[in-house]
Amino acid sequence: MFDSPLQDTYEQVMRRNPGEPEFHQAVQEVFESLAVIQGRHPEYAEHSILLRLCEPERQLIFRVPWVDDAGKVQVNRGFRVEYNSALGPYKGGLRFHPSVNLGIVKFLGFEQIFKNSLTGLPIGGGKGGADFDPRGRSDGEVMRFCQSFMTELHRHLGEYTDVPAGDIGVGAREIGYLFGQYKRLTNRYEAGVLTGKGLDWGGALVRKEATGYGAAIFADEMLRTRGASLDGRRVAISGSGNVAIYAAEKVRQLGGTPVTASDSSGYVVDEDGLDLDLLRQIKEVERGRIGEYAERRGGRARFVGTGSVWEVPVDVALPCATQNELDGADAKTLVEHGVLAVAEGANMPSTPEAVDLFAEAGVAFGPGKAANAGGVAASALEMQQNASRDAWTFEHSEERLTQIMTGIHATCVETAAEVGRPGDYVVGANVAGFRKVADAMLAFGVI
Ligand code: GLU
Repeated sequence: MFDSPLQDTYEQVMRRNPGEPEFHQAVQEVFESLAVIQGRHPEYAEHSILLRLCEPERQLIFRVPWVDDAGKVQVNRGFRVEYNSALGPYKGGLRFHPSVNLGIVKFLGFEQIFKNSLTGLPIGGGKGGADFDPRGRSDGEVMRFCQSFMTELHRHLGEYTDVPAGDIGVGAREIGYLFGQYKRLTNRYEAGVLTGKGLDWGGALVRKEATGYGAAIFADEMLRTRGASLDGRRVAISGSGNVAIYAAEKVRQLGGTPVTASDSSGYVVDEDGLDLDLLRQIKEVERGRIGEYAERRGGRARFVGTGSVWEVPVDVALPCATQNELDGADAKTLVEHGVLAVAEGANMPSTPEAVDLFAEAGVAFGPGKAANAGGVAASALEMQQNASRDAWTFEHSEERLTQIMTGIHATCVETAAEVGRPGDYVVGANVAGFRKVADAMLAFGVI
């Protein structure tokens, strides 16, 4: 598939990590991009940079026992993959979802290295989580789970070592329980050890909004390179968590109309544009199902229990739910409906087939590691504020986020053009993200 020595490295990585399809998918995409610069950097091959980069610096797997409300002992599996610390402490979220396994955490951690590098901020890459399902669990159960999880993980963390945050299933409530337990175990108010904290106890303004805001800003930037913008556009958004809700809010601020949201039970279409207060109330406060949105919208929205939001004709698509949620058939439908741009708010939501179809059709495609980097960038800003014991205003924080997102967009465009693949944001993001990490690794010697 690739030229040697890229091919040899690829085969070694595949052999060494059997049965991890999502991880293979993420690695393959990066290798395809790096094939474009093969031969330009013999020093990388000579020092086995890519082989080292694919092997996490440390992988932790641990038992998480906890007692449920009925008094029964439950056991989950916890993970933290400390992938790469060339640019800064390991940084990346924790995902609590029944689908979490080592391969999923490795794919997320691997992507995080390049994403974090692209932000231009001093953060390495890592990811973690557990196969715990917070849905349907009481606050007390979630608390006991988080406390048990942190009782093991705390010894591996630190503001200069490894700094987790949220991801699917881990929001303000979970970060609160995790931080409380870390503080108790270490007897330190080490605010910079976790990000996504509450605003009263070390959290930063705009962190909650940042991933979604950033994805919408990235989509707008892509459209601007083509003489268009989000203004007046119909936008399909999948998911209904933090990323989706704030992507919708920024789409609206930029003049677009977000018309869809979804969860695992189905999706809603609201032709007038989503009522974000209602969506927040149902999903963030009540932790309810998406169908309730249509019921409470007084006939203005409809609920669809089958298929996907990608069936709805739109100008722009923002997949903000989960990996591989947008496949080749969905991409074909979107292209037939004349979609102009796709920006990934989630991590790897488009399958490789979908990405190829967008490229063939000339659709502007922003991969997650560029388009959703706003979240982790705002986490790095939270760390900055914690380190200086400061708290910035919303306006200043949002301005920094916007600068970072437009900067990432420009880096992707320039890098793609430089390596002879103009307009290819996947290649731009992978090559630019990789080079910084690779050069730092070269500087450090064989470690
Ligand atoms: N989970 C988010 C991501 O995928 C945020 C990570 C963080 O803030 O550390 O980038």
